[in-house]
Amino acid sequence: MGTVVQGIGVSAGAAYAPVVIVGDRVLPPADEQVLAHDVAADRIRDAFAEVATEIDGRAELASDGAAPILKATAMLARDPGLIEGAIAHAESYGPATAIERATQGYVDKFIELGGYFAERATDLKDVGARAVAAVLGEPAPGVPTLDGECVLVARDLAPSETATLDRTKVVGIVTEEGGRTSHTAILAAQMAIPAAVKVSGCLEFAEGTMVLVDGDTGQVHVEPEGELVAQLQQRAARRTAALEGSTGPGATKDGKRVALLANIGGIADAEKAGAADVEGVGLFRTEFVFLNSKEAPTVEEQAEIYRKVFAPFGDRRVVVRTLDAGADKPLAFADLGREENPALGRRGLRLSAERPDLLDSQLEALAIAAHDTGADVRVMAPMVALVEEAAWFARRVRENGLKKVGIMIEVPGAALRAGHVMEEVDFGSLGTNDLAQYTMAADRMQGELADLLDPWQPALLDLIGAACDGAAKNGKPMGVCGESGGDPLLALVLTGLGVSSLSMAPSKVPMVRFSLSQHSFADCQRLAALARGARTAHEAREAVLNAVAPSVAAVL
Ligand code: PEP
Ligand code: MG
Repeated sequence: MGTVVQGIGVSAGAAYAPVVIVGDRVLPPADEQVLAHDVAADRIRDAFAEVATEIDGRAELASDGAAPILKATAMLARDPGLIEGAIAHAESYGPATAIERATQGYVDKFIELGGYFAERATDLKDVGARAVAAVLGEPAPGVPTLDGECVLVARDLAPSETATLDRTKVVGIVTEEGGRTSHTAILAAQMAIPAAVKVSGCLEFAEGTMVLVDGDTGQVHVEPEGELVAQLQQRAARRTAALEGSTGPGATKDGKRVALLANIGGIADAEKAGAADVEGVGLFRTEFVFLNSKEAPTVEEQAEIYRKVFAPFGDRRVVVRTLDAGADKPLAFADLGREENPALGRRGLRLSAERPDLLDSQLEALAIAAHDTGADVRVMAPMVALVEEAAWFARRVRENGLKKVGIMIEVPGAALRAGHVMEEVDFGSLGTNDLAQYTMAADRMQGELADLLDPWQPALLDLIGAACDGAAKNGKPMGVCGESGGDPLLALVLTGLGVSSLSMAPSKVPMVRFSLSQHSFADCQRLAALARGARTAHEAREAVLNAVAPSVAAVL
């Protein structure tokens, strides 16, 4: 009889496969002993050799694009300067500390050299971290070589790690930390990998144990009975059958249009989403493109990227968000120094006010790429709180020749005063991830606070209602681009509140489209009233679940 652990479902679907644990970074022990020099030298050489062989093995299995990068990384692990440097440090330090010191010295040099070398600093750090683990006889940190389908189990995954996962092998993701709107959750949905986060105790799962991840309910079943696996497979089959006829533009049963758009984070996402049945892009998170950049990209470098992002969408709209740097998405070239509370600090548009050069070069590049591709580009700002900010941003966007300008509504002050803020711009987009964080004063990165961050919280729904009313007063459209827009039940409530577009990971679009098609606009308004009338998030969801069309309830 299997056990079940409850987490938060963040990417729909079910996955059944053996567990592969992603090792944590291993630090050299503080009291590490200095060894006899020849013993230390042998251990250090063996550790680097083990790392080089392991990375070479991954290169053999990797795609054509990734193999050369991995081979180059294996070469770093064979670099005599790095190995001999570590051996020299072993005169005064234990072998793991010696490896760490030598690696850090090289990393600093690489960063100083800049350009290509600086870009390899991350790979070098990875090599060093693996060699430290190897010399201590600990499992390698990071995602190991995968030789078949698996469910990855990790404390959390770095955005860069999640983005490079092999989709053909990683069929599910389970993390101990993270929350509904953490970036692991966002990227897993983006890649359509069923995932559950905040699954406490998951790191204790034995490697190779069969688990069933239910990305809808957030439950992880350890060694489940065959009957349960069959049940979830049947649910998946029912869903596939129901969604088969669900194509084309989003609309309620009585024809009220709700545009269904994709959230993207770069060129690869754009190519995938461009080929999908979506009406365009509702959120291009431009900061995702530059997460690993040390230097600010030039106008031409940016224009080149944006052209490639816009091209797959032809004449469909592409809503671009200017850099939302800071807090959970720090960018090296836009760092304003340490702040006590980064999520409440100079992030998003506030950072653009401090560094208008970054905003101007981005707007110039967007205008060039929009002109070159003829794309329907609309630009919006993150973290707008004030009328003055909206006006300042709108002026700068229009001065650059970009026609349509919008703002994200993700600060409660802006939601409450949308009637005035929206006068300055052409459209609004509710960032419900941050709006939930700021409404409930709960850090979105902190899994323990997940209940506060539940998008069904009636207080959040009230603010969304206020923002929609403010936009409607100005005759301006209001969309949603936070994770809540991809929930097929909540999508009905949002529509009832007055939202006219929903942007989400493309994998979530078919289910939302189906759900909308089974309800009239009046149904959506009734469901919205039910949810807002509830006292708790749980009661709000239950009330809606009990009132939706049976055709939708059957495939949830
Ligand atoms: C949001 O806050 O809801 C949003 C869409 O932006 P991000 O998740 O990138 O902060
Ligand atoms: Mg946000």
